[in-house]
Parts: sequence; structure tokens; C-alpha cells
Amino acid sequence: MSNLTGDSTVSSSRRGRGRVVGVPSQCWCGVAVVEKISKSDFNPYRRYYRCSYAATHKLENDNHIFKWVDEALLNEIDKLGAQIRKIEEAMEKIEHGREEIEKMMFESLKMKLENEILERVEDALLESKANTRNMMICGVIGCVLMIGLVKLLG
Ligand SMILES: [Zn+2]
Repeated sequence: MSNLTGDSTVSSSRRGRGRVVGVPSQCWCGVAVVEKISKSDFNPYRRYYRCSYAATHKLENDNHIFKWVDEALLNEIDKLGAQIRKIEEAMEKIEHGREEIEKMMFESLKMKLENEILERVEDALLESKANTRNMMICGVIGCVLMIGLVKLLG
């Protein structure tokens, strides 16, 4: 008879014993989970989590939560590891994004600077051109005046 009920409750057995990942806080039956110490010959003094209902009623071969503490803690460490990897990936993305933004800002700053320098160089060139032209005009006027003076004196 117990075999029959076992067969008909395959889904709940999946829900109970095997499927729990990490430290269980509550059994699927709704009661809390307690921490016990094994007294079996196979696992002496090994700690385990157990549905408190199943523990107080000393149920055996049932579907209520049973989970070795060390395995549960390993699950938790795995979960933490996965979380850390996720965080690291997110951080890498953020870092990459920041680098992109910095690169863009640097590029635009460089372009701005280049434009400014170009403008200044052009201004300076224009100014120097104007200066040389002025000097040339002065020189020409000077020459004309000199020639005029020489002609006047001569
Ligand atoms: Zn239970």
C-alpha cells in the first residue's frame, strides 16, 4: 500500500526531497524546517535540514524536506558564485560603457581643441599676412617717399 501511494505522489516527491536547492526555510507542507544531527551509521553526526512535522513524527520514506546541511551550504556557495559572476559581468559592461563615454568625450574634446587651434592658427596667419601687407605698404610708401625726396633734392 505504501508503495502505491509512493507511486501516485511522484510529483510531490519531486517537490519535496530532491529538488530543494540551497538552505530550505520551509517544507512544501507549510511547516518550518529544523536542523538535526544524523545518528545513522552511514552519516554519523552529519547535520541535515528536516521538515519539523516529519521530524517530530519520525516519518521515514516520506516526501517532506530532507537536505544535508553541507550540500545545502555548497548550493548556497554556488548560488553566491553565480551571483558574483553576474555582478562582475554587469561591472564589466558598466566599465566598458564608461570607457566608451570617456572615449567619446575625449574625441569631442580633441576635435574642439583642434578646431580652436586651427582657428587660432588661421587668425595668426591672417594677422601676420595683414602685418606683412602693412609692412609692404609701408615699405612701398617709404620707397616712393624716398624716391620723391631724392627727385626733389636732385
Ligand atoms: Zn513537511
